[in-house]
Amino acid sequence: QDIVKCYYLDAEELVVLNNVNLKINEGEFVSILGPSGSGKSTLMNIIGCLDVPTSGKYILANNNVEDLNEKELARIRNREIGFVFQSFQLLLRLTALKNVELPMIYAGVSPAERHKRAVAILERVGLAEKLNNYPNQLSGGQQQRVAIARSVVTEPTILLADEPTGALDQKTGQQIMQLFKELNAEGRTIIMITHDTNIAKHSKRILNILDGRLSEGAVN
Ligand code: ATP
Ligand code: MG
Repeated sequence: QDIVKCYYLDAEELVVLNNVNLKINEGEFVSILGPSGSGKSTLMNIIGCLDVPTSGKYILANNNVEDLNEKELARIRNREIGFVFQSFQLLLRLTALKNVELPMIYAGVSPAERHKRAVAILERVGLAEKLNNYPNQLSGGQQQRVAIARSVVTEPTILLADEPTGALDQKTGQQIMQLFKELNAEGRTIIMITHDTNIAKHSKRILNILDGRLSEGAVN
């Protein structure tokens, strides 16, 4: 409600989100479209509880996020939310398999189960042959798929994806959308940023953002 986000640099104020009002229900599949610099990642970081608004109120699953303590926020970040970052953010010293196992350690999953689930999800994104490759031994699109596998392996209730298909060719991008649709059909809420209207069409609702102002778009 009335979310405003400003950045301050050298006494200059930059309003990046300008009174954003948005309600997303559980189980929705939403995409956010908008040009570079329009505030998409900033909005996503607030939705994912990685950043806080300058003013306005964010209610997540009946909690006013402002009132949550660090422990409650950590639980939400580790268990409820899966994040695919625009810049993959894989750990360079861990193999694809170990990168995907990592969030399950924080979620308290046993080692044998972690291994099993990591292998299964990496197979699902087409990386069965690359389990033991380190990120610098993977192509950009393969790294992106590892990041997607890592974000969904804990079965978060909300999946936030910042340009999940940005580094992928059309065929792989379509495969990832197929995976997202399956995850959504299982009841997960998906919020995805994209520049690509063909990718956005896979979602059920499109939001446009321009200069920090949000409007509902059309799904053609
Ligand atoms: P892109 O499509 O290029 O990823 P975006 O829509 O995700 O763009 P944001 O990353 O949300 O854009 O950035 C919105 C604006 O806020 C940009 O003008 C950016 O320069 C500015 N900005 C983002 N983070 C900061 C920061 N930490 N300090 C100052 N300005 C910032
Ligand atoms: Mg961005």
